[in-house]
Amino acid sequence: TPAVMWFRRDLRLADNPALLEAAADGDVLPLFVLDPALWGPAGPSRRAQLGASLRALDASLRQRQASLSVVRGDPVRRVVQAAREVGAGRVHVAADFGPYGHRRDRAVEKALAEHGIELVRTGSPYAVAPGRVTNGSGDPYKVFTPFSKAWAEHGWRAPVDAPAGASWLALDDTTDIPDPELPDGLELPEAGERAAARRWRDFLDERVGDYDTDRDKPGVEGTSRMSVHLKWGEIHPRTMLADLARSRSQGAATYRKELAWREFYADVLFHRPETAREYLRPEFARMPYDEPGEQLEAWQRGRTGFPIVDAGMRQLRATGWMHNRVRMIVASFLVKDLHLEWQHGARHFMHWLVDGDLASNQHGWQWTAGCGTDAAPFFRVFNPTSQGRKFDPAGGYVRRWVEELAGVEDPHEPDDEVRRQVGYPSPVVDHKEERREALDRWEKIRA
Ligand code: FAD
Repeated sequence: TPAVMWFRRDLRLADNPALLEAAADGDVLPLFVLDPALWGPAGPSRRAQLGASLRALDASLRQRQASLSVVRGDPVRRVVQAAREVGAGRVHVAADFGPYGHRRDRAVEKALAEHGIELVRTGSPYAVAPGRVTNGSGDPYKVFTPFSKAWAEHGWRAPVDAPAGASWLALDDTTDIPDPELPDGLELPEAGERAAARRWRDFLDERVGDYDTDRDKPGVEGTSRMSVHLKWGEIHPRTMLADLARSRSQGAATYRKELAWREFYADVLFHRPETAREYLRPEFARMPYDEPGEQLEAWQRGRTGFPIVDAGMRQLRATGWMHNRVRMIVASFLVKDLHLEWQHGARHFMHWLVDGDLASNQHGWQWTAGCGTDAAPFFRVFNPTSQGRKFDPAGGYVRRWVEELAGVEDPHEPDDEVRRQVGYPSPVVDHKEERREALDRWEKIRA
């Protein structure tokens, strides 16, 4: 019987168990549904990146005399229509555990069942599906370290090959893969599973050994930049974990832990879907916050007058990516220096990040804001200037992204005269004062 392979966040042919299941049924229709509910709110970088990733998947399929059928509309209607058109008995997917995807899939499953068609979930975007790792009493873990131990003990299947010799179907009436225009100055990484495999190979060959020491230096190409490929499933973490298992370096062990954070946050969001918007620790909702205004705008535009913050915010706008250390610094600044709720910052991140992922983003923000899972304690307030000096000691990162400061001797703390000369703004707040203010506000909810 023909089958549908409905691609979502798994835009690859290699190591895709759902695709293997589809090919085992019979002829396969590779389908992607452009869902206005997801496409609408996605920012320009994520839309462009998705378009590029879909074109890459289509190109991989074309090498196998197949093509990706792309349709636009509500998946409940579109998937049923596509399945009926090709006479499919089953629609195969990798399970989606995000709040929206989970609901959508249940609705699609019900609609398909009315036509006697089955929705089959095989695998997920994670090595271990959210909800699987539980403690002795069957409850989810609330803290990362015990989660990561249980996660490693749980284990995962070995990578699988792309299906050999499958035969393919296509829909008659499809829409073009979108190719949205990029805002001025935005440059995005290469998309697709081949680009992902190449980047991963380069990282393993050249940088994983130094990952442990270089990953916190934003001025050094010390991290893998795999987040965007993981976001769209151009590579599966299982493939990466299998490669890491062959290395004995400390870098490989640390990298594995970072992948576990990704899985942990997906697990947390699965159990507590409301935390995509709400405080994981509800007492933080009672803390007094300021209303967003000009300072939020200065933060968004990279004009706070704090060089490391501005460098990060400008890197985000120029590349759709920001270094993890700097994500923490700018997030802490928004919450503890500007006293704004984390959701304002998280929304801006989701708008511009190419790797924007609801679980990692909302919980990365909540962790930094002190209101998340085993969060950094609220009273530990980052000093943006000393963070800059510590992690970007030669100032190369700041000089690269804040062009006004490119020729300045001490780009982390330019004095008033230098700021005037080069046209770089004065600090929008006094960090020492705002630190005190943040702690005062926190005292109110501690009681
Ligand atoms: P590497 O250092 O090479 O890490 C390897 C992989 O491990 C990453 O690709 C990612 O999948 C995972 N990883 C690493 N650190 C984390 C982490 N702290 N939490 C979860 N997974 C992690 N990551 C996203 O993928 N999407 C987001 O929207 C996102 N938003 C964030 C917001 C804030 C405020 C913070 C503090 C962190 C956020 N992160 C997010 C996590 C992290 O910053 C990025 O995953 C990382 O910078 C991506 O670059 P890389 O692939 O070079 O990372």
